[in-house]
Amino acid sequence: MTTTTYPNLLSPLHLDHITLKNRVLMGSMHVGLEEEPVWFKKYASFLARRAAGEVGLIVTGGFSPNFEGATKPFAGMLSNRFEARKHRYLTDAVHDAGGRIALQILHTGRYGYHPLIVSASAIKSPITPFKPRALSKKGIERTIRAFVNTAKLAKHAGYDGVEIMGSEGYLINQFIARHTNKRTDQWGGSFKNRIRFPVEIVRRVREAVGPEFIIIYRLSMIDLVPEGSTWAEVVILAKEIELAGATIINTGIGWHEARVPTIATVVPRAGYTWVTRKLMGEVSIPLITSNRINMPATAEQVLANGDADMVSIARPLLADPDWVKKAMNARSDEINTCIACNQACLDHVFQNKRASCLVNPIAGYETELRVHPVKRRKKIAVVGGGMAGLAFASTAQERGHEVTLFEKSSALGGQFLLAQKIPGKAEFAETIRYFTNRMKRSGVMINYETEVNRALLLDGKYDLVVVATGVQPREVNIPGIEHGKVLTYPEVILGASVGKNVAIIGANGIGFDVAELLLHQETDRSELENYQSTWGVDPNYANGGALQTPKEILPARIVTVCQRGAKKPGSSLGKTTGWIHRQALRAQKVTFLRNCTYQKIDDAGLHLLIDDKSETLAVDNVIICAGQVSVNKLAEQLKDILETHVIGGAKESHNLDAKRAIREGVELALSL
Ligand code: SF4
Repeated sequence: MTTTTYPNLLSPLHLDHITLKNRVLMGSMHVGLEEEPVWFKKYASFLARRAAGEVGLIVTGGFSPNFEGATKPFAGMLSNRFEARKHRYLTDAVHDAGGRIALQILHTGRYGYHPLIVSASAIKSPITPFKPRALSKKGIERTIRAFVNTAKLAKHAGYDGVEIMGSEGYLINQFIARHTNKRTDQWGGSFKNRIRFPVEIVRRVREAVGPEFIIIYRLSMIDLVPEGSTWAEVVILAKEIELAGATIINTGIGWHEARVPTIATVVPRAGYTWVTRKLMGEVSIPLITSNRINMPATAEQVLANGDADMVSIARPLLADPDWVKKAMNARSDEINTCIACNQACLDHVFQNKRASCLVNPIAGYETELRVHPVKRRKKIAVVGGGMAGLAFASTAQERGHEVTLFEKSSALGGQFLLAQKIPGKAEFAETIRYFTNRMKRSGVMINYETEVNRALLLDGKYDLVVVATGVQPREVNIPGIEHGKVLTYPEVILGASVGKNVAIIGANGIGFDVAELLLHQETDRSELENYQSTWGVDPNYANGGALQTPKEILPARIVTVCQRGAKKPGSSLGKTTGWIHRQALRAQKVTFLRNCTYQKIDDAGLHLLIDDKSETLAVDNVIICAGQVSVNKLAEQLKDILETHVIGGAKESHNLDAKRAIREGVELALSL
């Protein structure tokens, strides 16, 4: 039953020849299944699952129109009839599930990871090792024809439309911006010449596919690089794209090489819809907005404000394929929310691994991790209400087992209870909310404030026990460790009083989190204003690219982060987010010390040897963030008397890996 909680989000969008059932577009994301050999069985299951979740229109990951435009050798392409037959798998699967689907045509230009890349000009990008060749005039013609060919093949393969990728700094964007287009022929120089390439592509694609086919053009509305498009240029381009025959314009935010985070947790929810709103009314075709819209209430507000006609969400549909269906059925509190961590999606893609989701490990593994009812109901005890225990208990109970969970504290969530207190990690509270609600719904019996021992488990006559007792901070052996100025990271996160000058021992994820917490300052500006001034995003769009000088921050404390090793500080942080944390701490004048040997802690501070030279840090507090150790004594006591499984931090404490913890919980629950 459809409710009116989200009247804008759930209203249909009428296009000339077709009606989309709601205002949710699944934005294009590369998940690593686009290169599936032979047929698209896994990718089809992945997409069909999202279609069954009632998404209005799905856009595939990017497929190149030719070899030169591929992300890497053997990346997904659609350039001939054989490949089109393979794509039928995708379109049939989505249509059978009641959805609609468009193919994204992506030519990466100078962002490609192979030696045959091309661009508007021969200017190397800062994010790939290869220098592109400047396309000749003939090469440009050939490339336009390749786009047209792919669009025709997409129609032949049963797609409802195509999205022409014109943003994020890919080839089309490279023609549009002065930053990368230094040509002097009719494809460069004046703005009219620089936009000739996208306009020709859209015009000729429309000519080839006829009127009854969706053409989405993804337009870079804010480049966030020097010499990017000005706002006046964005408006002109949008008008030309509409005239050329596009059905919808989708919003692109920032080039991949931009040094501004655009989708990480530091970006406030809906933090870029103001850009799309500027374009509303300038064209008459629908506009889609995007970036950090992760819950239906946010999406509804964006549409109600008139910021756009439709919203694009991508990662939230990895986290929960039923996102739209739950919004339709007034079950938003059951949504597994994307926490913008990037750890199992983008980080995987950058490591050439299949994308999944930290909070939903079934994403991308729909054919392998199938949830099916149990054949024999077992009585199971779970010890520990952290992420591993919660993922296991809820999945096992939903399959039909009888699960009892024991938690020694008064709350569920484990390490996420600490993480949610770190500035920029408030979204972690959503995961606690999701699992807590799911545990209650599924009927898991929860015993809070209960210390578990052998006797209790034997009395309960359980068939098996799952030990998910997590981790505790590693103790370090430094003379003076018992000094009053020494604090552990849980003490600091839970509100211990901390002085103005601190040393943090450990440059891992927790060390960075504690530094960010200690440096955080409340201001009277909004979250969005803080983000824009910190990262140099100009809300007035005064220059091309909309960059401004980041505001100088007067740090709240003097923070020194020390580590034993010689590696880059924060080397365990995510590939796509580590740079954000490093940059944020450097902007607040944090000192990083490597190759440290800790000698003692006393009234004078922390005494160190750095590369064999003595130094004393005259700090008020020393905070120990030296990692964790597993808490798993119970498993040892049980192993000979009960079937016992150990998961999560209790099994392996290295790097405090929530992604692995949740995945282990789900995999074990599906295997019993
Ligand atoms: Fe969102 Fe993190 Fe899942 Fe990626 S891994 S979809 S960012 S929750």
